[in-house]
Amino acid sequence: MSASNTNDKATLAFSSLNLQQDLLKNLSTLGYEEMTPIQAMSLPEMLVGKDVIAQGKTGSGKTAAFGLALLEKLKVKRFRIQSMVLCPTRELADQVAKEIRKLARAVHNIKVLTLCGGTPFGPQIGSLEHGAHIIVGTPGRIEEHVIKGTLKLDDLNLLILDEADRMLEMGFEAALDNIIERTPLERQTLLFSATFPKQIQAISESIMTDPVMVKVSATEDQSNINQHFFHVEDDAHRFAALRLLLLDNPVESTAIFCNTKKETQAVCNALHDDGFSVLALHGDLEQRDRDQTLLRFANKSVAILVATDVAARGLDIDALDLVVNYHIAHDSEVHIHRIGRTGRAGAQGKAISLYSDKEAYKVGLIEDTLEQTIKPELLPSTDVLKNARHQAKMSTIQIDGGKKQKVRPGDILGALTAKSTNAKNTGAEISGKDIGKINVLDIKAYVAVDKKILKLALRKLTNGKMKGRSFKVRHLTV
Ligand code: AMP
Repeated sequence: MSASNTNDKATLAFSSLNLQQDLLKNLSTLGYEEMTPIQAMSLPEMLVGKDVIAQGKTGSGKTAAFGLALLEKLKVKRFRIQSMVLCPTRELADQVAKEIRKLARAVHNIKVLTLCGGTPFGPQIGSLEHGAHIIVGTPGRIEEHVIKGTLKLDDLNLLILDEADRMLEMGFEAALDNIIERTPLERQTLLFSATFPKQIQAISESIMTDPVMVKVSATEDQSNINQHFFHVEDDAHRFAALRLLLLDNPVESTAIFCNTKKETQAVCNALHDDGFSVLALHGDLEQRDRDQTLLRFANKSVAILVATDVAARGLDIDALDLVVNYHIAHDSEVHIHRIGRTGRAGAQGKAISLYSDKEAYKVGLIEDTLEQTIKPELLPSTDVLKNARHQAKMSTIQIDGGKKQKVRPGDILGALTAKSTNAKNTGAEISGKDIGKINVLDIKAYVAVDKKILKLALRKLTNGKMKGRSFKVRHLTV
């Protein structure tokens, strides 16, 4: 399929698609002016019912691409499970469900149900008994439901595999087989993947019919990312180099990618001991801790996140200032995917990659993919060691109350900005600009506040009332 049509303005308009008016109108209220390349290339094919394999990484607009195809196909009056999206992680499943709900806002009574591991099984059975149109979830848990018979897929006509490469990497192949076996043969199947290893090809051949391949060129959106490569001698030198580079680049949000969980934790610990504001994200951590880490990094109360590729899948941050490859990724496409997290939405991005002689061949592969020559640069001088470790601007306060307690973001904002009635405390007020992201989860809520008002904010939240009662609050330290 040619990519040339994506350059034509007329074909980028959502109105050129055969979509219901309600969906179209909602897109403009969401501010989606025109289709992203992956949407422009895949939607026309998906909307006529074809099986599609698409290269879609986070940030490309892939969720809206399959979300719109899904909603257009759905018969709302038929209250049966008609479509299912399988995702590698709970974070991604939550994001996908959120995006589908956003796209479905204009259509009444669409029920999206998420089924993921790491959450209790019982309530999910209850929700399934109530019925749904769309299921979004992770393969392990969905497999359990189909095997137990609590999830029946007889009416499914659209199956979507999101980030299929990661699902395979995480060992979900058998679970996928078990699930797909229980879906009707007469279905449409869409497969999204950032990379295309041979295994994906094999899977697509066995579960798809005559699929159309949609590939957005890997080099297409790299022009606004400045890549810098540094040669290191060994692992000790690698960490020393990382430290110098971080001190030389004191930015708000940096993601460092490691190839293993063990290394991720080790690098995080070493940076932490050196005074950096840093947290680790990898699969050995409890789901709850992973959620909290992502949230704290996204709300800017942690400056550096050290992560494995798999765990970073749920990272939905508009633009990272800097991406560091502590080791070169196993695969050039993974490299491109990693660095694509900086320089989003037209912003200038920066990526730093460290490599030793052993990894030089991987740099060669990246050169081939990018069609450019890579020259290693000189590391910053040790003068930068005198620099202060860049600290995050914000701090996160955890509140022991969430949706279940009917806490809303407005209540938190209200408690923080309430004028002090005590004459002694006048002048000790918090203005809206010192308050950052507010996340209200099921039984907890989190608010990011500027560090300089942290103590005052803790006092106001402890003494003030929300929903007529007081909640326990605490500062999450890094
Ligand atoms: P995704 O690649 O699916 O993670 O999407 C990245 C972000 O782009 C999400 O926040 C979407 O809401 C947003 N988005 C998706 N499609 C469009 C579009 N056509 N125009 C503007 N924003 C979009």
